[in-house]
This record gives sequence, structure tokens and C-alpha cells, in this order.
Amino acid sequence: MTHRNAYLTDELEAICRQTLDFVAKEVQPHGLAWEEDGKVPREVLRQMGGLGMLALRIPEELGGLGLGPVASAAFAEALGSSTFAGFDVTVLVHTDMAGPHLVNSGSPEQHERWMPGVIAGETILAIGVTEPGAGSDVAGIRSTGKRVDGGWLLNGRKTFITNAVYGDLTIIAARTDPDNRYGISMFLVPRDTPGFQVAKKLDKHGWRCSDTAELALDDVFIPDDQLLGTPHRGFYETMKNFQNERMVLVGMGVGAAQKAIDMTTRYTQERAAFGGRLFDLGAIRQRMAMNQAKVDAARASMYHAAWLGEQGVDNARAMSGVKAWGCEVVNQVMYDCTQFHGGMGFMRESAIERMYRDARVLTIGGGATEVMLEEVAKRSIAAS
Ligand SMILES: Cc1cc2nc3c(=O)[nH]c(=O)nc-3n(C[C@H](O)[C@H](O)[C@H](O)COP(=O)(O)OP(=O)(O)OC[C@H]3O[C@@H](n4cnc5c(N)ncnc54)[C@H](O)[C@@H]3O)c2cc1C
Repeated sequence: MTHRNAYLTDELEAICRQTLDFVAKEVQPHGLAWEEDGKVPREVLRQMGGLGMLALRIPEELGGLGLGPVASAAFAEALGSSTFAGFDVTVLVHTDMAGPHLVNSGSPEQHERWMPGVIAGETILAIGVTEPGAGSDVAGIRSTGKRVDGGWLLNGRKTFITNAVYGDLTIIAARTDPDNRYGISMFLVPRDTPGFQVAKKLDKHGWRCSDTAELALDDVFIPDDQLLGTPHRGFYETMKNFQNERMVLVGMGVGAAQKAIDMTTRYTQERAAFGGRLFDLGAIRQRMAMNQAKVDAARASMYHAAWLGEQGVDNARAMSGVKAWGCEVVNQVMYDCTQFHGGMGFMRESAIERMYRDARVLTIGGGATEVMLEEVAKRSIAAS
């Protein structure tokens, strides 16, 4: 089997092919209707579950494939070819942004209770950290978890939470130690828990088939067996997954940017102008070639950072750097690809118009570019 890069094994190549095939057959023909509905049908997620696509990072002893970060990078990149980033993020929040918390911090009883549904695509996961008053500064969250007889009482607000309108189980971060800035705990909150409600379904610029909620928690009682991980250690436990979260966001962006380059190269090769084809114009072919070089570099950096993580090497600088730079590159590529589609690029009927909108959030969510650059800068100082 020919591998598209040095980090991919036969197994990962097969997963990429399976994902590309799934996206072409089951996502692309239906994505526009999902964008209109503002959600990905549950049946599609169940179908992915049935094919084992939601279990790459789940240990074998829990019924998964037990693969590492490189698998997530490859999966995210392949999903990115869908041209419907709202679909990609619906899946990746489940598998790579919320899922790892349950895997890493869950007790054997919690694994037994929830994991079969997670793998099957029956129990869709969300992660609720961001609040109206606290985003980049995670330690600033104000939702509270108060110790009561037999459990905890949660109060507060969460916002911008992906998969929380239609999902089943949200992992909620709440402050449980008021005297400690980092005294946060994580809780497993099923959708039908009394006092836990979707306050608003949010209307977004892009990622329109991904559902995003503002959540209200009013005296939500969470029994002890739904505390996830160690009390007051949730901040540190969440941090463990930051690199993975950053990676899949840049991964889906790289997959989308490559698709946009391919589409634009084809479009400009077909489009007649000035007695030739648009792609023959030096300004266009050179800019597209530079975009290709940048996407190749972002992809290589992402896989390298994933591989470092897989070896147990601290990859925070490498991953923060590629999240910052790679997501900016993805946006530049989408800008140019829209430009070279001309008026058609501005029309709702063209895929590039959606991809341009979808890319915008990549430099904001899961660690804004400036926050990522601070992560790099801190480590550069430490290493100097
Ligand atoms: C569509 C979407 C889906 C999301 N899904 C989820 C989810 O599922 N779960 C979840 O918990 N959160 C989710 N988020 C939240 C997302 O992670 C936050 O929006 C992000 O962390 C930024 O936080 P903020 O919006 O509060 O911006 P702020 O923290 O207020 O920052 C605003 C801007 O200020 C700049 N900035 C911030 N900090 C610094 C700094 N230290 N130095 C320099 N500049 C800085 C950046 O440009 C940043 O964009 C989602 C957001 C969106 C838009």
C-alpha cells in the first residue's frame, strides 16, 4: 500500500481511505440539507459508530481501537475533505475533544455505563468549559459546583457549546474550590438532568450544520458517581487534552484547505479568460502554488507534532505553533480560493463560499491564535 506520509501505517492509511469514502458517499450529497436544518442526523453518527469510526482513540480494553494522536490527525484531515466543517466538528468534538476526558478521567463504572453508547454513536458527547464571561482564560470560569449530600449542586451558564443542543452527555466544568483559581471539577451531565437546559440554540456565521448551545444550569444535582476524575483537579485534567483538541482543529482545516486548493485549481483551469485559462495567469498559478506549499508545511508540522505526542514527548510548543500558524494559513487559502472563483465564490451555491465562512472560527476556537502564540513564546523563553 502506498502511504501518503511517513507517519501513516497501513492501518491508518486504511482508516483515511474509509473516512474519505464515507465523506464522499454519506456526507457530501446531504450536507446542504444538514446546513439548512442546523444539525447532523443522528443516523449518520450511528452509521459511523457501526463502522468503528468513533472509536479510534478508545483503548482496546474499552472496546475501541486504542490508537494514538497520529490517528486523530489523519482522521481529522480526511474529514476535512467533506467541505462541511460543521459535520467535521460534530464528529471531532465527540471523538477528540470531549471523548478523551471520559477515557482519561472516567472510572471503570463510568466507562462501563457510557462507553458502549459513545462508540456506537448512540451517546453523543459535548464539552462545556466556555462561559459568557470566560473563554480563553479557562481559570476564570464562574459556574459553581457545591458539595451536597450524595453529590454536587451545579449553577451557572455555559456558551458556545458544540453538540449540546442535540447531544446526550455534556462534560461540564465548574468551580468547586472557591479559594483556588484552578479549583475546577468536571461533571458528567446527561441531557435530561433536571435544571439543565439549552437556554438558546446559537445562530452562527459558519459551521451551520453543527449545533451550538448556550446552556443554563440551575441547581442541577449531580450524584457522586457522575463526578469525572479527581475533585478540584479538572483544570489540570482538561489541560491534558489541549494538544489533541488543537491538533484536530488544524487537521480538519488542513483537509479543507487542500480540498479548496484542488477545487480552485480545477475551476481556474477550466475558466476561460484573456484568450487562455485563469490558471495560466502567473498571478494566480504562483499564488496557488504558494498556498499549496504552505498547506504542505502545515500538514507536515501537524503530523510531526502528533508524532511527538505519540512518543510521549512534550509537544505543546509544536502543537500550539501549528494551531496558530496552520489555522491562519487555512484562512488565507480560503480567501484566495474565494477570490479566484470570482463572483461565483461569493454565491451561496458554491462550496468555497461555505468553506470560507467555516474556516473563520479556526483561529478563534480551541485556543485563539494570540493565545497559541503566547504558549509558544513562553516556551521559547524557557528554552533560551
Ligand atoms: C462555533 C464555536 C464552537 C465552540 N465550541 C466549544 C465547545 O464545544 N466547548 C467549549 O467549552 N467552548 C467552545 N467554544 C468556545 C471557544 O473555545 C472560545 O470562543 C475561545 O476559547 C475564545 O474564547 P472567547 O470567545 O471567550 O474569547 P476571549 O477569550 O474573550 O478572547 C477574544 C479575543 O481576544 C484575543 N485574546 C484572548 N486572549 C488573549 C491573550 N492572552 N493574548 C492576546 N490576545 C488574546 C483573541 O484574539 C480572542 O479571539 C466554541 C466557540 C465557537 C465560536
